[in-house]
Order: sequence, then structure tokens, then C-alpha cells
Amino acid sequence: MPMNDPVLQQSYAAAVPELSVPWQADVPPAPELVWLNEDLAAELGYDAAWLCGPEGMALLTGQLDAAGKPLIPGSDAPERPFTTAQAYAGHQFGSANPQLGDGRAVLLGDLVDTLGDRRDLHLKGAGATPFARAGDGKAPLGPMLREAVVGESLHALGIPTTRALAVLTTGEQIAPRQGVTPEPGALLVRAAASHLRVGTLEHAAWHHDLGVRRALLDHVIERHHPTAEGAESPPLALLEAVMRSQAELTAQWMLVGFVHGVMNTDNMALSGEGIDYGPCAFLDVHRHGAVFSSIDRGGRYAYGNQPGIALWNLSRCAETLLELVDEEDPNVAVEQATAVLEGYEGHVLAAYARGLAAKLGIPVATGPARGGGSPPDGEGAAATGAGPGPDPLPSIRELGADLFALLEEQQVDHTGFFRALTDGDPSALFRDPAPFEVWHGRLLALRGTGPSADASEEAMARTNPVHIPRNMHLDAALRAAHRGDLEPARTLLEAVRRPFEHRAEHAHLEGPGDGGDLFMTFCGT
Ligand code: AMP
Ligand code: MG
Repeated sequence: MPMNDPVLQQSYAAAVPELSVPWQADVPPAPELVWLNEDLAAELGYDAAWLCGPEGMALLTGQLDAAGKPLIPGSDAPERPFTTAQAYAGHQFGSANPQLGDGRAVLLGDLVDTLGDRRDLHLKGAGATPFARAGDGKAPLGPMLREAVVGESLHALGIPTTRALAVLTTGEQIAPRQGVTPEPGALLVRAAASHLRVGTLEHAAWHHDLGVRRALLDHVIERHHPTAEGAESPPLALLEAVMRSQAELTAQWMLVGFVHGVMNTDNMALSGEGIDYGPCAFLDVHRHGAVFSSIDRGGRYAYGNQPGIALWNLSRCAETLLELVDEEDPNVAVEQATAVLEGYEGHVLAAYARGLAAKLGIPVATGPARGGGSPPDGEGAAATGAGPGPDPLPSIRELGADLFALLEEQQVDHTGFFRALTDGDPSALFRDPAPFEVWHGRLLALRGTGPSADASEEAMARTNPVHIPRNMHLDAALRAAHRGDLEPARTLLEAVRRPFEHRAEHAHLEGPGDGGDLFMTFCGT
């Protein structure tokens, strides 16, 4: 039995039936569990041993009856499936695509976890759905493991993300593209605050009437940003909440050197969680223009472009809400939505500077803003030195910009630098340490101005990871998995789930490995 016997529901389909279709996952020929996230299982209320048994496997492979209970093996699929495939649209590499959707995935349902939060369970690789377009509906093992590793890593780093509950192989061999060596077919079961995306709002705005769009708005607000409900303008309050959560998320990605790789609007969740890790990667050497995705030829989703792209996506999000903001006067709606989005830059810069301060060991109080009782909010108010005095965040950002220019110029590893700064002296990482020494003097001066100059070392060790999924190690683990050896992927998962500790058994995974600078990923969709 599951521990709490979580009850799966289809809250989204119940609230907005127009935006999904009931759809049954294919029956995989010979499913095998490759990796089970036992911590997450417990958090969701599932017993790990139960998940490994026949009922659990039915759940993990999407074989549910009409009420959302695991199908007994051998019994018929329900006439009307419980599980659903969601419709969405999106802007892909800047171009509108009116019809996307869960082409190879079904929403198993949503449940209330042991913490009291509502979470979706979603199954990727479930076979072609009505939204598959030309796709085969399959998912190869490598990309599913990559998504699991990246999600666990980001989660352990404290960054909002969807997470893998399980990775399974289906028993099939699949070839996603011509000329690609066949690879084991796989399933990924992931948990997410929801699967509502900017692209979901776009689909509603482009294909549905105001009634459907209002129902969707209400559902998104209820589920993710309930304080918007009582606001003077709920759609504007939702936009504000989505804007803030994306500003926070993007700032955190920048700080750990994460490149999402395909920040299309259909890959931007309204919950503020990172989602859909395809051709993503972490920086080795710090490089503003770093692009790892073979499909991103123009570098649209380069590391340094991410904050600007998030705002571009938020503008598409705002457009979908205009009629809900002011049905009569589009000019008023545009003006009001623009005013909300004008707050983005301040939020992203403030979140970035606060995070940078923690990484650099510069104490910045997080209490009420200087000279007033308002909570940290936006650029000005977030600057919180001890009492009155100049706002420290701009100088922190300037120090950061100079550091990153130096790292790029001398080809220094992003993660390695911050950890060396935490553990001791990073000057050995520089070919010419002189400019670093000058920079370090400025850092020491800034550290000295804060409220508690020596309390920050421990905080640095909890902010600057030892372990991220290094591109070369992840790539090697995925290649081993392709050959049937899953041990390296499991070891990497263990390493990134405890990112802040040096451990002898994971020491070989700490550095970038050989050839990281030239790394490219072809793990697209
Ligand atoms: P992604 O690039 O993974 O975010 O996916 C973009 C769109 O393509 C989504 O609508 C996916 O559901 C769809 N898609 C990706 N791979 C497949 C596939 N193998 N079969 C069907 N649809 C797919
Ligand atoms: Mg996607």
C-alpha cells in the first residue's frame, strides 16, 4: 500500500476541460525501473517498495483505471481514460507555434503531498498523443536521465524545479532521428507544482473565448499565486507574481552557471519552477556567450541572454492577459501590463546581487529595508546594509561583473572558482593572478562593510557547490547507460544530490573533466 495512499485527481481538466484531452499511455512491452527517487516518493506519500511492485509499476507506466487507480496487470484500459494530454502553444526560438501540447506525455494526475502542496505527476515517453504532430511519442533513455540528474541537482542547490520521481526503460529500442543509433526507450515520471506554462495561456488566448480564458486564469491563480485572487486586478497581480518568480529563477540560474538551452514560452512554467531540461548544461569555464545546444544556432538562449529572454517570454505572457485586464480598452491594458513588467529588471538585478553577495561572502542583511519597514522588494528596498548608508547591491554587481570578465578572460571554471574562494585561495586558478589579487582586495573591502563580516564563510559553503552535473561526466554517464551500464548515472545522481560536500567516493566528479570547453549537447526534444 502507498503510505498515505495519495489520491490522484485531474483538477486541471475539471477546471478547464477545453485545454486537455483524456488520453491513455501506451503499454510498454517490458518496463524496468532504472532509478527511483525514494526521498521524493516519501514526500509525495508513496511507499518506495510499493512503487517497485506491480501496482506501483502500473502507476509509473501510466496504466490507470477510470478512477485513477493502478490497473491490475492484464486488465483492459478504461473506456474513458483518467489520464490527460494537455494542449499548449508557444513561441519557439521567437516564432509563434499555435499547436504544441503533450505530444509524448500524459498527466497522470495531481495529488496533495505530505507537505500539503498540490503536485502534478506527469509521464514523459508515454506514446504519441493527439498533440504529437510528426513525433513518435517516444523518449530515449539519455535525455530522460539527463532531465532527472539536472532536476535533482537544481533542487539540491535550492532552485525551484520539477523533479524526477522515476526513470524506467520500456524494453524497446528507439531511434529518434534518422542516422541516430537506436537507444533504449524510456519513461520519465516527474513531479511538478503544475504543468501550466506561458504556452498554456497562449493556447487559450489564441484559440479560446474569454470564458475559457477566465477559467484558466482562476485556476492558475488558485493553484500558484492565490494572493492574486483578492487583488484589484487579478490578471495583473498574476502577471506580477509570475514576473517575480521568473526573475528569482533566472537570477539563480545565472549564479550557478546554468544554461537552460531552450527557453521557449512552452518551456516556462507559471509556477516559477524550471521545467523541460533538454539541451541544457552548466558552465565549466565562465563564458557570457556560452551555448551548448546544437539546435540553438543563433545563440538566442546563450547563458548571458537568459535574463533578457525571460523578460521577452513574460511579455508574451502579458499579451495573453490583456483582454482580461481591460476588455474595453486595449491601450489601458497595455499600459498597465507594461508597468508591471517594468518591475522585472529591478527584481532580477536585486535577486542576482543578493545571491552574488552570498556566493562572495559579503554579508547583506535580509531584514527590513533600510530606513523603513517595508519587506525586501525590488531594487531599492532590497538593498539592506546595516542601517542607513549607501545601497551595497550596485557595488556587489559591479564587483561581480568585473569578476566574470576576469574569469572569462583567463578561462577560469565558474563553479570551481566559487568553491575555491569558499575553501581557501583561488589565485592558483588564474594564469596571471595579479588582476585577481586586485579584485580580491576590493572583495575584502566590501566584506568589511557589512553587519557581520565573519558570519558569511559557512553561508558560502552552503551556497557554492562542490558538485554540479559536469557536462563531461554527465555525458559519460549517459553513454554508459546507453550501453546498459547504469552505475555511472546513479553515482552522478548521488553526487549532485549532496552538492555542498567533498566526498572521497565522488572526488572524480568534482572537476570539469577533459574536453568540457568544447562540449555540445544534441539532447534536443
Ligand atoms: P520540447 O522541445 O521537449 O519542449 O518539446 C516541444 C514539443 O514537441 C512539445 O509539444 C512536445 O510534446 C513535442 N515532442 C517532443 N518530442 C516528441 C516526440 N518524440 N513525439 C511527439 N511529440 C514530441
Ligand atoms: Mg517542452
